[in-house]
Amino acid sequence: MKTHATEQTSSAAVAGLDDFIEPARPAAKRTRQAQVRWGARVVTIGGSAPVRVQSMTNTDTVDVIGTAIQVKELAVAGSELVRITVNTPEAAAAVPHIRDQLDRMGIDVPLVGDFHYNGHRLLSEHPACAEALSKYRINPGNVGKGDKGDRQFAQMIEIAARHDKAVRIGVNWGSLDSDLLAQMMDDNARLPEPHEPQQIMYRALITSAITSARRAEALGLRGDQIILSCKMSGVQDLVSVYRALARRCDYALHLGLTEAGMGTKGTVASAAALALLLQDGIGDTIRVSLTPQPGEARTQEVVVALEVLQSLGLRSFNPSVTACPGCGRTTSTTFQELAKQIDDHLRAQMPVWRARYPGVEGMKVAVMGCIVNGPGESKHADIGISLPGTGEAPAAPVFIDGEKALTLRGERIAEEFHALVESYIEKRFGASTQASA
Ligand code: SF4
Repeated sequence: MKTHATEQTSSAAVAGLDDFIEPARPAAKRTRQAQVRWGARVVTIGGSAPVRVQSMTNTDTVDVIGTAIQVKELAVAGSELVRITVNTPEAAAAVPHIRDQLDRMGIDVPLVGDFHYNGHRLLSEHPACAEALSKYRINPGNVGKGDKGDRQFAQMIEIAARHDKAVRIGVNWGSLDSDLLAQMMDDNARLPEPHEPQQIMYRALITSAITSARRAEALGLRGDQIILSCKMSGVQDLVSVYRALARRCDYALHLGLTEAGMGTKGTVASAAALALLLQDGIGDTIRVSLTPQPGEARTQEVVVALEVLQSLGLRSFNPSVTACPGCGRTTSTTFQELAKQIDDHLRAQMPVWRARYPGVEGMKVAVMGCIVNGPGESKHADIGISLPGTGEAPAAPVFIDGEKALTLRGERIAEEFHALVESYIEKRFGASTQASA
């Protein structure tokens, strides 16, 4: 007869494992490193540099103050480079004034100029714009056709090389070089067994990016100052293209779904695509191209980008708040409200705390809904609270550094926990500030 003991096999035997499981972590990157400079600020992209977050304004660049304010908002939210469109002579003339305005506001985030069709003219005729920008984005599908396109591309690259600017050669499937694609489609059609049109599209994107980069190098731009992107709007398309691109070159890579869409759809699609690639060690800088919902701040795209990198353990930007989803065991909304208050408060304070409390961005706070997982999850956090579920005694144990520290009771649990979090931060992360003072 089987006993309980014999049925209860060891966990290793159940799992069929006789060794330990390696923690998953993103693979190492192997790209060259670009330097994007403005003033004393240098943002490195590629190689051993952290994956950088960038964003793009949606103001009219001619509106110097409006654009500078939005650049500031994006930078304060965590964007390490901000791109602005440079589409007209008036916009090009505005760029140095935007730069000046940012410098006056103490915002030294590098500006990237986004050029299509007339970039060669704008950069040649507005040298102050060429100088004020720290990096140029050039779309090889939008520089012109044939010999004229080659000349215009060369003109932009030569200006970049002269000013020692980094350049993103940004191919987009919505504006892919149509001659190149048509040629590759024709060649494919002549094969005895033609490939799928989708595969030719992938190949055309990569060919356009890499041949343009090699041309830029031949024209005098340093290879380590070149960043490539091949953007598409489908997750699996993007993953296919970037995996192939990463195998074929060591230029730094800019990742992002193009036209990701709005709200949940855009957020989830971007996170899915970026996570798959970043885990493979592919991607040196990211942008989440969210369409803002009516009334939504432009900075939402930065918030999502930071969360993607933090969720993958690639970078730490903000203290994280772990909260359970709630269920029938806790029918009040107290813990949801408390989790939101704490999360909002931590995020709002971070621009100041980042300097005042070094390391606070790695802090973990737990706000849990009942006794089932509350104490366990709270012990894993730096500071955590397990709120009472329905029918439980009205007491909320608080755990600090893995130990139960005290129990809160009464109507003011939220305020008291708030104060405990503040004092924890001051004690733990203020120490280095005090020491250095
Ligand atoms: S911790 Fe409690 S309230 Fe939260 S999801 Fe788990 S069982 Fe439900």
